Amino acid sequence: MSQTKAYAAPSASAALTATSIPRRQPSERDVKIDILFCGVCHSDLHTVRDEWHSIMPTTYPCVPGHEIVGRVTQVGTGVTGYKTGDLVGVGCLVDSDHSCPSCQAHVEQFCPDATFTYNSPDKHGTAPVTYGGYAENIVVDERFVLKVPTNLDLAGVAPLLCAGITTWSPLRRWGEIKDKKVGVVGLGGLGHMGVKFAKALGAKVTVFTTSPNKKDDALRLGADAVILSKNAAEMKAQAGSFDFILDTIAADHDINAYLGMLTLDGKLTLVGAPEKPLSISSFALLFGRKSLSGSLIGGIKETQEMLDFCGRHNIIAEVEVIPMQKINEAYARLLKSDVKYRFSIDMATLKG
Ligand code: NAP
Ligand code: ZN
Repeated sequence: MSQTKAYAAPSASAALTATSIPRRQPSERDVKIDILFCGVCHSDLHTVRDEWHSIMPTTYPCVPGHEIVGRVTQVGTGVTGYKTGDLVGVGCLVDSDHSCPSCQAHVEQFCPDATFTYNSPDKHGTAPVTYGGYAENIVVDERFVLKVPTNLDLAGVAPLLCAGITTWSPLRRWGEIKDKKVGVVGLGGLGHMGVKFAKALGAKVTVFTTSPNKKDDALRLGADAVILSKNAAEMKAQAGSFDFILDTIAADHDINAYLGMLTLDGKLTLVGAPEKPLSISSFALLFGRKSLSGSLIGGIKETQEMLDFCGRHNIIAEVEVIPMQKINEAYARLLKSDVKYRFSIDMATLKG
């Protein structure tokens, strides 16, 4: 066991502060990674504030961070896929049972024994729960470590490990999306990746935003149209026209307005995880035989496919790089939808 510098929330209402956490010595299959950048996901904020208490209560201290890129500094004797010096990523998952039907189907995120990167029971007993990427380093089983393309800017790669895969997975699963009319609701960390991927896959993309100051960016990121969701007339004009809508909103909102925009047999997939349940009108689904579904991150195999696609197509997140010490300000700004479009923490600032 060794001690590592980190930032942790001591309780749901306290600011994150500098601390020291234990990390296990790499065992046979483990890779030790020196963290270079860690993205700031809205899920970090939901968890720190214990907003998902009824589903996944938060254990304190909580060290968030599941958009990790770094360099391998040590490998266990049985590691075959990585060596010291490799550029690697870690997303939301660090372990699973490797044998259940979900693991066999490469959707480890649905394994009943999945270990998430933070706030999951720590099977190694190093600490009561796993500690995430707001830290100097992390030790992870090589089966949950991703290869990072070497041609991309690393600050912008980090958010691919959650915001990227969470939007890539449902867009890919939907089917042949080329030339289909796709809506992306909310232009935040997830939303802006959804726009980039939908565009790269050939869809006709419309962004729905509450923020007028994001309109030009949405077009620059690849959207064909932008709708201000507070404008009732603009919203009404979209009725019945979308094949697929990806809803990334982090807070309570009227989902029925978006269900009404789907075509016959159209589908809306929720990836946003607001604190409170959404209210759904059954009629919004009955008329037009529409489907509503959810999607949770993605498996390791498809995360690697997504990263390889990003390498080939030069896709990264748009980031504002911050020092670790600015994390509490960053959370306050995230709550005001004031980030273009992902904070990425420069971990060198934690070591200094
Ligand atoms: P984010 O960067 O804060 O983006 C959320 C966006 O939602 C905001 O930028 C804003 O976009 C819009 N929004 C915020 N409050 C709103 C409101 N009251 N009404 C309407 N729109 C609002 O967050 P994120 O990191 O992208 O995460 C989004 C959600 O997905 C979070 O709930 C997060 O926990 C969840 N998540 C889920 C998964 C999964 O596996 N399913 C993975 C990661 C994250 P505009 O300014 O454009 O309106
Ligand atoms: Zn996330």
